[in-house]
Amino acid sequence: MGCNFRCLHCQNWTISQQFEKGEYYTEKELALLIDDARRRGCRNQNWVGGDPIPHIPFWLRVLLYEKENMPVFFNTNGYLTIEAMELLRGIVDIYKIDFKYGNNRCAERISDVKNYMEVITRNLKLAKDYGELLIRILVLPNHLDCCLSKILEFISKELGKNTRVNLMDQYTPHWRAKEVPEITRRLNSYEWKKAIEMVKYYGLTNVIS
Ligand code: SF4
Repeated sequence: MGCNFRCLHCQNWTISQQFEKGEYYTEKELALLIDDARRRGCRNQNWVGGDPIPHIPFWLRVLLYEKENMPVFFNTNGYLTIEAMELLRGIVDIYKIDFKYGNNRCAERISDVKNYMEVITRNLKLAKDYGELLIRILVLPNHLDCCLSKILEFISKELGKNTRVNLMDQYTPHWRAKEVPEITRRLNSYEWKKAIEMVKYYGLTNVIS
């Protein structure tokens, strides 16, 4: 539970922005469950949320108790400090990072974060060096030119055209999305077609949608 972002359209706001009733596990209890899952054929442990960033110290302690060698899938918005990136180095196998915005203004306005581009672009490069990188892009309505285009351009030029990308069209306004007028609707077919054309324009070759 919890998240370091406050995206006004958050689909998971009941666990990212408040604490729904849940069950508490100690690090040791969770490690036992993960080991058991591994022995039953589970292929990776997916640290998610909200976002796993606020809980990195907890997850690192869980790992101390794990006996099986279970790959770690870090499922994140990618907005973490350089120190946190170094803590995870050699521990995370797969970085699945949501690349949400193509400029700081949209990031601050919708997700209430500062210096987004500086942080996310640095961490995407580090993640590519430190493990396997998968980038997920949820296309927002009316944010193709200001965000999607810039995101794809960065990936193509700085990370490589064969970077694994998951392009998603399922945006649905949730939580407080009505406070941001241009994202109060779903993506239309024209925008999705344009998004696919942008992918082709930037020459990306490893995209699933
Ligand atoms: S980063 Fe994800 S979980 Fe966190 S507030 Fe934004 S959409 Fe919700």
